[in-house]
Amino acid sequence: PRRLPVPEVSLVVLVGVSGSGKSTFAARCFAPYETVSSDECRGLVANDPTDQDATGDAFDLLHHLVGLRLRRGLLTVVDATNVQPDARRQLVALARDHDVLPVAIVLDVPERLALARNRERPERDFGDHVVRRQRSQLRRGLGGLRREGFRTVHVLDEEQAGRDVVVREP
Ligand code: ATP
Ligand code: MG
Repeated sequence: PRRLPVPEVSLVVLVGVSGSGKSTFAARCFAPYETVSSDECRGLVANDPTDQDATGDAFDLLHHLVGLRLRRGLLTVVDATNVQPDARRQLVALARDHDVLPVAIVLDVPERLALARNRERPERDFGDHVVRRQRSQLRRGLGGLRREGFRTVHVLDEEQAGRDVVVREP
């Protein structure tokens, strides 16, 4: 397995389509409270982690939580698709405001794998077009992550996502 260096205090932004394995990767590589997830925030504001109508409030909460944690000097992982440039821009700005380095970890898995995984997930009952759209947004953004302000960019394929280890560097 590769070692993926991340600064000891950083904002780790996971990037990947639904079904790419973000939550699984976060659970394996980071401590529970280190990960702030958009689904968790939807649940907290709307009693339902899949409630898309709660997206605005859920992300308000997510950004607030991330800001509080960074102010306290805690490494924080954002578990959301982050395939849209604007979503990443807000997180890079938040990291800057707190003098913390933003790191992108991209889970770049084949579309058919993400689709197949989501078919087994009753709570992911949206159509295939959703993942296809996310996938094309992701591909468009991949090359420009450094320019967006991410100091470190790690891109993982499906096997690396299950194996690589995160190493914190002072
Ligand atoms: P979403 O954006 O919808 O929350 P996600 O990117 O968080 O999706 P996960 O929930 O982590 O995706 O994974 C989707 C499914 O794929 C789960 O059923 C999970 O068990 C499986 N999975 C994730 N990563 C792996 C892996 N490395 N090997 C095998 N199965 C995996
Ligand atoms: Mg998830």
